[in-house]
Amino acid sequence: MDKIKEGLCSLVQKIKKEGLDSYETDVSKVTREVPINKSIVALNTSGCSYKKEGVGCFHCGHLKGYEHSERMFEQFLSDVERIEEKNKISIYSNGSFFDSREISEDSQKAILQHLKNLGFRQIVLETRPEHIKKERLEKLLNDLDKTELLVGLGFDTYSDKIRDLCLNKGFLRKDYNNATRILADLNIQFESRIVIKPPFLTEREGIDEAIKSVRYAFDRGSEYISLEPIALQPHTLQDYLHKIGKYRAPWLWSILSIISETHNLGKINIGGENFYPIPYEVAHNCHNCDIRIKTVLKQFEKTQNIEDISEISCKCKKEWIYDLKKGAPNLYDRIERVLEKF
Ligand SMILES: [Zn+2]
Repeated sequence: MDKIKEGLCSLVQKIKKEGLDSYETDVSKVTREVPINKSIVALNTSGCSYKKEGVGCFHCGHLKGYEHSERMFEQFLSDVERIEEKNKISIYSNGSFFDSREISEDSQKAILQHLKNLGFRQIVLETRPEHIKKERLEKLLNDLDKTELLVGLGFDTYSDKIRDLCLNKGFLRKDYNNATRILADLNIQFESRIVIKPPFLTEREGIDEAIKSVRYAFDRGSEYISLEPIALQPHTLQDYLHKIGKYRAPWLWSILSIISETHNLGKINIGGENFYPIPYEVAHNCHNCDIRIKTVLKQFEKTQNIEDISEISCKCKKEWIYDLKKGAPNLYDRIERVLEKF
């Protein structure tokens, strides 16, 4: 590992360590208490195994798993009972559903079987690409109608350099390609998640990189793209950079601009808010237009029609344009300057 990456890893390790004591590990409880109009069950697993191997993803706010993960299946059964709408259910596991170190193969099968028996029409799962294994998936889905699954893949970004340096995701574009190939072979739909504005990127670079990533992910056969604007969660790299004046959560104008460039390629959803821990700041413009634009974005998700998007205006657009013109030294120098002060 080169010096810059090593320095960043120690910085993030320190940031995350500071949050461990105050971290609420009962994600099931937190998810039940948050009023969102989506059917979500969060599993109290032992936590993302990638995190356990080191510092984990720089932008991820999950700090550790649940202390009694052996009770996860009972917790799932009780949480799923409260969901009445049987159209679509999202199972969040703060990691990878198909990673047997987090959710045993028996539990994976039992969860899917139970959801099918309850009559859910679509089940959304999430996983890192390396856990998409053809034989295992075939075996797991043998008794299930696999077209009901939608697998959320955190592709995050096109550039291997940005994915590694700014996010520390620990996989390459070719790993994502491999996962998409297997899912396509098995006729399983997938949604690729694309982050907007990884830490250290400028607003302009954030937009350009997201557009490139969305195009690529549609080319790879994604049924949906979920745009995930980076949110400010405590004890993450973006939180640290924000506090030293080196990061602003993405502008909503940037999201609108990405959608305008890519909406004709396929279906786009907008995430970035239903994260745990709950962010203290998310993508925003100004107080005069935030609510208006978020309403239009919600509408867009339903209709995929950009007519309303093109009509929005607000005085703050000038500030955004000013931000877009801001230059920055090369990525390594930017990181080095932050590390010098750490
Ligand atoms: Zn505004």
